[in-house]
Amino acid sequence: MIELTNDADPSIGDSASTRPSFRRRLLSVVGPALAIGLLLLGVLAWGAVYVALQRSAVEVLRAEANEIEADIVQVGGTLQVGGHAWSEVHHRLADPRVDPVFVQVFDRNNRVLRASTNIDSLSALYPEQPLAPTTPYDWIPTLRTFEAGGQSLYYLVRPIVQEGTTQGYVQVARPLPTYEAALAQYGIVLAVVVALLFGGLMAVVAWAATRVLRPLRRITAFAESTTSADLDERIAVPDAADHETALLARTVNGLLDRLEESFEALRTFTSNAAHELQTPLTVLQGHVEIALRRSRSTESYESTLQLLDRKLGNMVRTVRALLTLTRLDQGEELSTEPVALGALVRDEIESAQSRAAEKNLELCIETEKVWVDGQPDLLREAVQNLVDNAVKYTEEGRVRVTVTEEDGRGVLRCQDTGMGIEAEDLPHVGGRFFRSAEASTAESEGSGLGLALVRRIVEAHGGTLRVASTPGEGSQFDIVLAAAPAPTTAEAGG
Ligand code: ADP
Repeated sequence: MIELTNDADPSIGDSASTRPSFRRRLLSVVGPALAIGLLLLGVLAWGAVYVALQRSAVEVLRAEANEIEADIVQVGGTLQVGGHAWSEVHHRLADPRVDPVFVQVFDRNNRVLRASTNIDSLSALYPEQPLAPTTPYDWIPTLRTFEAGGQSLYYLVRPIVQEGTTQGYVQVARPLPTYEAALAQYGIVLAVVVALLFGGLMAVVAWAATRVLRPLRRITAFAESTTSADLDERIAVPDAADHETALLARTVNGLLDRLEESFEALRTFTSNAAHELQTPLTVLQGHVEIALRRSRSTESYESTLQLLDRKLGNMVRTVRALLTLTRLDQGEELSTEPVALGALVRDEIESAQSRAAEKNLELCIETEKVWVDGQPDLLREAVQNLVDNAVKYTEEGRVRVTVTEEDGRGVLRCQDTGMGIEAEDLPHVGGRFFRSAEASTAESEGSGLGLALVRRIVEAHGGTLRVASTPGEGSQFDIVLAAAPAPTTAEAGG
């Protein structure tokens, strides 16, 4: 069992939810990028402090080595260590509280020339040979260490170079600084700050995305809740709305304008069509009822049947016009072929001759050889409608139909000396079901679909329909179509 009521459409949100939301996708892109960026920043911040501390530790040894080196002189091929402040506390004592510095100067044969006295108080295992020379400059200085007297010491060995040859070495050592714990703590603090920053920034991004998407959700909810019953409602665009939101809202509003217009046109069309069929049907029903009320003569039945035939003929024309209009509105491609416009017009005029003669109208036709690309049945229908109208709305004078070629275009002109059209009606002529007040009060039958059909047919052929009219003097309708080259095999018409 299916329900046939016209309930609101199922929400499109559900089917769309299989794809991740914009917010989630934004977070999944921004999240890792932010994490990597913050992590790098944290590592850099930690590394900068680490390098600064290592450098300052090495700097202390370097300054000491510089001082000692400045006091070393070469006398007769041997090195002599001068008046360095060997008696300072940090050279005499090994107690960490005095920040001891252990200094040794070696000659080129690695023999100790001079050593600070605090070395003796460390241990007998203190190296008596120079340790491996350290590099003079490191971007990230590493501290070379050794153990002596139960202490971890870091050191610096620098060659004493005079006249291009290594004459000896200065070796300076110092207890390993105790900033590892501080560095570890700094690392933890940094990690916490980075994590907090990451969480905070992600929250800001999520909030911003929600804020940006809020108008979109509003517009989606509005579009979802809009039905054919409230097509007149529009999305309010606040002054503060950003450019994209305002653009989207205006676009949706524009779409609703067009939809409302189409719905209105459709409603009017349906009601006009129903009305157009209902009126003659009621009349027909009345005639049939009267005819059936009592038995009548054969002549009476005949005249009723003739009336029915005429009325039914009009209705069939109306229904045919409606069907053709609907087919053309669906926009299906026309299957065109070369059409000799003049010949086509001549054929169609034949049927109008008798009606013109009945009204004593002169019906003349002049045609040149003009070919157009078109669908013959539709073009015939258009010509028929124009000529029928001309005859219908003309009481005396003539109807003149011409086919000419002007500037590469085929022009089919239908002129009459009839009642004409009031200036204010001219823009409406060709609208569906439009009939001028004069046409409606005149005894002429009509549905107001004839010209609408002509216009639609001409549009479908890529042409234009022009009208000029003077009330009381007559009207002129032009169908202008692109002229086509004459086919070589077919016979030229006109
Ligand atoms: P109808 O069935 O009323 O003839 P049409 O669509 O053919 O419908 O024409 C629409 C209206 O245009 C007519 O009702 C009439 O008012 C006006 N009209 C069309 N052709 C002519 C004409 N040749 N002379 C005067 N009025 C015309």
